[in-house]
Amino acid sequence: MASSNESFLIIGAGVFGVSTAYHLIKRDPHASVTLVDRDPFDADSRVAASWDWNKVVRADYEDFVYCQLALEAQDVFRTDPLWMPHFHETGVYWICRNDFAKDVVENYKTLGRKADITVVPVHVARKMYDGLFDEADYTGVKEVLVNKTSGWAAAGDCLRAVTRKAMELGVRYEMAEVATVLLDDSGSCRGVQTTTGGTLTASHVILCAGAFTPKLLELSAARSGVRDLRAGPRIVAGGITTGIAQLDGESLERFASMPVGFQGYTADTGAFIGSLPPTKDGELKWWGQTIFKNTVEVLPGRLLSAPPSERDYGQGKVCERLKEDVRHASHVFFGKRGADWKLEKHRICWDAFTTSGDFIISPHPAAKGLYLATCGSFHGFKFFPVLGKYVLQMLEGSLSDELQRKWAWDRERPDPRLNPEWPRVELAELRGPSSKL
Ligand SMILES: Cc1cc2nc3c(=O)[nH]c(=O)nc-3n(C[C@H](O)[C@H](O)[C@H](O)COP(=O)(O)OP(=O)(O)OC[C@H]3O[C@@H](n4cnc5c(N)ncnc54)[C@H](O)[C@@H]3O)c2cc1C
Repeated sequence: MASSNESFLIIGAGVFGVSTAYHLIKRDPHASVTLVDRDPFDADSRVAASWDWNKVVRADYEDFVYCQLALEAQDVFRTDPLWMPHFHETGVYWICRNDFAKDVVENYKTLGRKADITVVPVHVARKMYDGLFDEADYTGVKEVLVNKTSGWAAAGDCLRAVTRKAMELGVRYEMAEVATVLLDDSGSCRGVQTTTGGTLTASHVILCAGAFTPKLLELSAARSGVRDLRAGPRIVAGGITTGIAQLDGESLERFASMPVGFQGYTADTGAFIGSLPPTKDGELKWWGQTIFKNTVEVLPGRLLSAPPSERDYGQGKVCERLKEDVRHASHVFFGKRGADWKLEKHRICWDAFTTSGDFIISPHPAAKGLYLATCGSFHGFKFFPVLGKYVLQMLEGSLSDELQRKWAWDRERPDPRLNPEWPRVELAELRGPSSKL
């Protein structure tokens, strides 16, 4: 695909960026592909949403396209030796308060996919898995979806392994913090400037900077004078809190073979909550229900939501309200059973959101040579094996009409109030004036 004068600069080494780099170098081993990230790919701690202990890998989607895409990704997780060690098929147990379960089953049926997937009434579900979820909150619940073919992936390990593989195949990894994109006199993107004043150039610049993308575009618009570079309401940076409990002995034995748990809610009641099975080190993880913005003045008079300005996005600075949010998550799954667990290792994880939860995989209409592949919207990890395939199609102009429309920069955007996962509250409000961190 790449001609000799094509080169690719990918800003951000999360799942969108790494998958793009991997697919580019697999297609053309001689391509010039550079991944740029502010953190080393093998750092013990990173700001990337994609870097984490574990992430759910499921194809349980009401949305047909994401169901299909997730199954395509799972096929890779199950069969490709690069991905296989990181996928754990523990199943999912999804407590549903709407028609989610029926829609998922219907999607599998339409796709002709056979899977061990059932919809059970609450009284039956309570007895499954040795009654592990019998103390869960079933208020307003219609039924429980149990899909034994879904599961989770060891996210950080997987991200490291695929990045390393891409580098072995010829991708360069550059550790640098990008300050702005660089446009030439004709308004075409030619590369990026780093915060230390260096420049990196390429014929194609692909922004995969996750939650930092709106700020990067705002700073780039100010530098170039091209206001249309700004994301505006298209992308909002949102944060979510995770926390873990260290299990051992009897409790570890009891929870070792648990499925991923979900508490599904509606837009009126809040975002879905999740509980991930213990890792090999016995760490049981939850994410909380509160999804928040951090609106700041990034330039005089220019307000937008961005991760906190600390180098590590202040991801370890978790206030009491957000720790309580994780305790609530534990309670709605395990009730009294988890009352004595010590919740620790809290982390705030920042992702880029759109009102519909759809990605943006698109050329940037304000600058030739500039592209976006981002907006995981709290569900992007599971598509890691195949994201790059679709980014390449976007670069080549061969993305299907349906996907072009779904992932376009400019598209119809539904009212965010319809989206349970839309960031609704400000981090500063949660912290409060005298909140203890
Ligand atoms: C708490 C939480 C739980 C989640 N759980 C799941 C789940 O269970 N399953 C699932 O499928 N999805 C899940 N997601 C969503 C998923 O993790 C994200 O959608 C996905 O990882 C986003 O990937 P990304 O490549 O867009 O961004 P990121 O992984 O955030 O990567 C962006 C990269 O860009 C780099 N970067 C940013 N700005 C710059 C700059 N200026 N210069 C240099 N580098 C820069 C960052 O360092 C980072 O490495 C979850 C998200 C969160 C927050």
